[in-house]
Amino acid sequence: MSEILFDRIALIGIGLIGSSIARDIQKLGLAREVVISTRSAETLKRAEELELGTAYTTSAADAVKDADLIIVSVPVGASEAVARQIAPHLKAGAIVTDVGSTKASVIAQMAPHMPENVHFIPGHPLAGTEKSGPDAGFSGLFKGRWCIFTPLPGTDRVALDRLSIFWKALGSMIDEMDPQHHDKVLAIVSHLPHIIAYNIVGTADDLEAVTESEVIKYSASGFRDFTRLAASDPTMWRDVCLHNKDAILEMLARFSEDLAYLQRAIRWGEGDKLFELFSRTRTIRRSIVQAGQDVDMPDFGRHTLDK
Ligand code: NAP
Repeated sequence: MSEILFDRIALIGIGLIGSSIARDIQKLGLAREVVISTRSAETLKRAEELELGTAYTTSAADAVKDADLIIVSVPVGASEAVARQIAPHLKAGAIVTDVGSTKASVIAQMAPHMPENVHFIPGHPLAGTEKSGPDAGFSGLFKGRWCIFTPLPGTDRVALDRLSIFWKALGSMIDEMDPQHHDKVLAIVSHLPHIIAYNIVGTADDLEAVTESEVIKYSASGFRDFTRLAASDPTMWRDVCLHNKDAILEMLARFSEDLAYLQRAIRWGEGDKLFELFSRTRTIRRSIVQAGQDVDMPDFGRHTLDK
């Protein structure tokens, strides 16, 4: 048990991310009350069955009344609608944050609606899985993962510290950057890999010379590693693409140029160029393991070695 950090927390959106936060709050005892809000009665019922909070409502406006911390965990394209609904009901001094995967767009959507007497601190925990909904969440999702804040100019440091303490209690490491930089970094480390995965799985699905059963049967040769990313939530990823358009298009242009280089090296049999690139990329994997962002096991730890 940790100490109580907020009297009342309102969670707007209770899917993978919202419900993982809810589970950690409960497990660690970080709040006296946790009000859960989601737009559909069905998801709300499931959250109640899972006992994720202390009160439940489909009205985001009702949920935020008297809340000290409000965490918005909905697809980024829904940010403005949520901001409009909650703004008139926020308590003076409350902290409003979000977990959206794009930051400049969320700020543009939410900031204009936020009253002056609340602290709006955009955030993004870099943790997740390909699953969605309240059943997909789990306690410990954020442990050892980064949470990036993109504070607006003039943000109150005390409020920012309180929010940092909350995320640290969940096991996160904290970083701060400006929203445009966040969107560029995330375009390469997260958005592009997902787009490439969606594309390669789509291409395989469209192939006529190779049957679908062969794609599935022989998938362990590499293909299946892309299918995890390509199984991610379509609504979330549609919104990410639409709301980080510029940075994603910039990275895609770079990617296409580099792919053309690789294509040419293969065509002209330039083995040294291929070898040099494949050696360089191998060291990146080692650095990720060293940074504690993945396990040092073959095939992502899928096999337990025989002793
Ligand atoms: P999720 O599991 O699909 O849950 C989405 C939640 O948002 C549900 O409560 C859903 O409500 C609600 N919602 C969906 N559309 C809405 C709309 N138009 N208006 C209001 N509420 C709506 O999603 P998630 O994976 O938790 O993602 C939530 C946010 O976290 C997204 O902004 C995403 O970019 C960000 N994020 C995701 C990951 C990840 O790996 N999944 C990682 C980091 C950040 P109903 O079910 O009641 O419709």
